[in-house]
Amino acid sequence: MLQTESCREIQARALELRRAGHSIALVPTMGFLHQGHLELMCRARQQADKVIVSIFVNPIQFGPNEDLDSYPRDLEGDLEKCAGVGVDLVFTPTPEELYPDRQFQTSVEVSRITRGLCGAGRPGHFKGVTTVVCKLFNLTQPDYAFFGEKDFQQLAVIRRMTEDLNFPIKIIGVPIVREEDGLALSSRNAYLSETERRDAPAIHEALKRARDLYRQGLHDSEKLLREAAEHIERRITSPCEIEYLKLCRADDLEEISGPVAGPAIILTAVRLGRTRLIDNLQLQP
Ligand code: AMP
Repeated sequence: MLQTESCREIQARALELRRAGHSIALVPTMGFLHQGHLELMCRARQQADKVIVSIFVNPIQFGPNEDLDSYPRDLEGDLEKCAGVGVDLVFTPTPEELYPDRQFQTSVEVSRITRGLCGAGRPGHFKGVTTVVCKLFNLTQPDYAFFGEKDFQQLAVIRRMTEDLNFPIKIIGVPIVREEDGLALSSRNAYLSETERRDAPAIHEALKRARDLYRQGLHDSEKLLREAAEHIERRITSPCEIEYLKLCRADDLEEISGPVAGPAIILTAVRLGRTRLIDNLQLQP
């Protein structure tokens, strides 16, 4: 497995691989890898001849009061995990390598689909994501790129960008990997105190509650959301705030009001103490 911090080198290697006729799959991550990330890599391994993983805590997708400085990091452990699942190339640039001082002036922004949900509470976040992913696409020349459904809006935004900008890349979404008690795996789970960790599965339970009621025939979006919110408020004892809890159309993430018809998804962001957790669940299997 080759590791490089250099844009020039990763691009040269990727172009070499392509010229040799290999297909490439990219898995972009921010590191502190867990089983969710590894699942993406295993899928990538099955799909393409060569797998490139990027590990980069992208400063431009963090707001001024967010956790950029405290974001958990473990490069050595991450590299071992990548090697363990057969990754071929790991790209670990520094912020200066990707955004050379004072020269960087270009960004990529997707409009409507980034406005609600996480986009509403994190202004500029998706612009940072699409800009870095665009750069990673150009640097690694992938045929496939793998993203987790845990960040469902991010996946939808990347799909939109890929189609709108005609990238010849197949975007593949991977279902959420969860702990046994239902909590979606996330690098940020490392921030949770013991009590918060005990409370956290209530988020997934709340989404399941809405999905179960939907399956039993309750299709009124307001009632479904109220049931889910009540579950969170009842079950979580530590300080917590629901940033958003919404029912949206699964394809374009437009908010649903009134009765749910067609493929729908319930999405939430909850602040448990200082930790912001997101989760989602599709109402139809
Ligand atoms: P991150 O390092 O948090 O930016 O995540 C990198 C990629 O892994 C993103 O495409 C995430 O959606 C995906 N991912 C993170 N957690 C999970 C999970 N629990 N299940 C599936 N994919 C995940």
